Amino acid sequence: MATIGKTTCPYCGVGCGVNLSVPDSSMEAIPPVSGDVDHPANFGRLCVKGSSLAQTIQSDDRLLTPIVKGESVSWESAVDTVGEKIAQVVKDHGPDAFAFYLSGQILTEDYYVANKLAKGFIGTANVDTNSRLCMASAVVGYKRAFGSDTVPCNYEDLELCDLLIMVGSNAAWTHPILYQRIAEAKKQRPHMKIVVIDPRETATCDIADLHLAIKPGTDAAVFSFLLHHSVQAGVLDNGFISRHTNGFKAALEQANESTPTLFSAANFCGISEQDFMQLASWWNETPKAVTFYSQGINQSSSGVDKCNAIINCHLATGRIGKEGAGPFSITGQPNAMGGREVGGLANQLAAHMDFATPGAHQLVQTFWQAPNMATENGLKAVDLFQAMEEGKVKVVWIMSTNPMVSLPDTDQVRRALEKCELVIVSDCKAHTDTTEMADVLFPATGWSEKDGTVTNSERRISRQRGLLPAPGDAKHDWWAICEVAKRLGYQSAFSYKSVHEIFVEHAALSTFENNGKRDFDIGHFSQMTKEEYDALIPVQWPVPKGQPEGTARMFENGRFFTPDGRAKFIPITPVLPVHTSTPEWPFTLNTGRVRDQWHTMTRTGDAALLTKHTDQPYVEIHPKDAKHLKIEDKALVSITSPYGEALLKAKVSRAVSPGNVFAPIHWTRQFSNAAVVSKLIPQVVDPLSGQPESKHAQVKLEAVNGV
Ligand code: SF4
Repeated sequence: MATIGKTTCPYCGVGCGVNLSVPDSSMEAIPPVSGDVDHPANFGRLCVKGSSLAQTIQSDDRLLTPIVKGESVSWESAVDTVGEKIAQVVKDHGPDAFAFYLSGQILTEDYYVANKLAKGFIGTANVDTNSRLCMASAVVGYKRAFGSDTVPCNYEDLELCDLLIMVGSNAAWTHPILYQRIAEAKKQRPHMKIVVIDPRETATCDIADLHLAIKPGTDAAVFSFLLHHSVQAGVLDNGFISRHTNGFKAALEQANESTPTLFSAANFCGISEQDFMQLASWWNETPKAVTFYSQGINQSSSGVDKCNAIINCHLATGRIGKEGAGPFSITGQPNAMGGREVGGLANQLAAHMDFATPGAHQLVQTFWQAPNMATENGLKAVDLFQAMEEGKVKVVWIMSTNPMVSLPDTDQVRRALEKCELVIVSDCKAHTDTTEMADVLFPATGWSEKDGTVTNSERRISRQRGLLPAPGDAKHDWWAICEVAKRLGYQSAFSYKSVHEIFVEHAALSTFENNGKRDFDIGHFSQMTKEEYDALIPVQWPVPKGQPEGTARMFENGRFFTPDGRAKFIPITPVLPVHTSTPEWPFTLNTGRVRDQWHTMTRTGDAALLTKHTDQPYVEIHPKDAKHLKIEDKALVSITSPYGEALLKAKVSRAVSPGNVFAPIHWTRQFSNAAVVSKLIPQVVDPLSGQPESKHAQVKLEAVNGV
């Protein structure tokens, strides 16, 4: 006998509903999973990663007890050690000597409690997250345009639009269920046009009517040209511009200056004028247009400007707040959005408030009754690890992420963690590249044991449910944070007995003294009972009073969250990536994911089926370059940047253009030290979002002889 529990997939930002079959009496059988037909993200579908979740549940490498300096200890002892050290460091060096480095894998309730402890009680805003690597540029882009971090669209819009522009996204591999939904919609509605804008010819191009293989990093010029071409083509929505926006004239002047002619734009982007005009003509003819964008836009030194170049085009043509229309950023991680909601970034507070908003930190301080409220931004991910190497951050608590493999310039990350006086790592796995650097290890619950909520790319809050018992001494992350908080003397503010108590407090803060006027509003849930929380069905925020079903689409009334209610055009000057090729470093390295792996493979690496698709790290090289360098397909290649060297198998392929190479990010030192690709990436970030430019590194290649 088994019961079926409903939960949510822990991998990508699509946030698919999963049914987990839970054996009643024994854990001997691995519980099978299936797609939840009632979940509006996937309606019963699962991709291969989601379908293989059962194979990742019973890992041989679970961390089962707290460990301090290599010895298994009790939770009490481990928490005492951590509490004492944090208290001492804060006393001696101030609150900014402590930092959290969190993850889009943890649940919203975990994020909320970590944020509350650091920003309200320890007194530091050094709370950043691996979501900084994923969607930070999209957040700033939305805030600049709408006055809030608000995703306007929903997944249904991807099926209802007549033109879908997919830019900087290989959704076929990275968001497979969305891709399947789009592919099916196109079959049903053959007039629907799909344009893929990507330097690489990816699997997503299989459904494209047009692929624009632009030069890496030139995306903003595409939308700059589209903006001024919209004027020439007479497709502006002048009524929308005048009633609902500010700044159109300045944005248009900048677009005219940056991409004055079709020739100049096509030349900058490295595509034919004919292809450019095909995109422009579909754009002109098609009011129902969605622009779908992801890491190819965000992971850039000008990622925020790229986002705003896209948004400008939608505002100019009034293609927002309507069925099948809008600029739609897709998050990489399962709870990147939930982290944004509770202030999981170093420049945010909680409930979509940030330090820059007058009065916001006092409001949060009052709500939390916080004794040591941080008042200004903390350090963003790359800056945080640099401050650690400089000795300014002396205690770091890393939760559910593997920065030794995922951050750029991983040799710097190693130096930073070596310098740090106390490295605490909470993880469900005993052996990752980052747990090896830890002084204290906290055993965390994993997927199927964790309990709380996540929010997917369309603002939909879903429950991840604790359906299976946690092995050994594994505990929830929020519980561990509360225990440390109590050691620091903050008993009453961290006396939560259940995840439900955290959720309703978080919901109450979303409307506290704001009368539901802000974008993120789930105040309706603040009165929720534990039973109602346990039974919560997926719902899209905001969920204001009287609208318990939530909000499918934002800005339908043309009102935005700026002080005057108008959206803002941002003048954009397209620029190239910081590090372009040179005679010494003649190639541009692009990084990304393969279809069947997730991040640094700490969980997907356990599923035998998933390693079959791509079993080795590789680098894609164009045949012309391979011939010139005498590199055979499958031969070992040395790939070097100013920051390190990797040895990868060559995959000779026309998917990349000459002068460009692509390598996936997943493999860790546990596979081979030479397989870590992020070590090649410079710590170059967008100045506004702090998001690293992981899509562009200068490299050189060399055949490795004798292999
Ligand atoms: Fe999980 Fe994403 Fe696959 Fe859905 S598409 S099953 S959320 S990995």
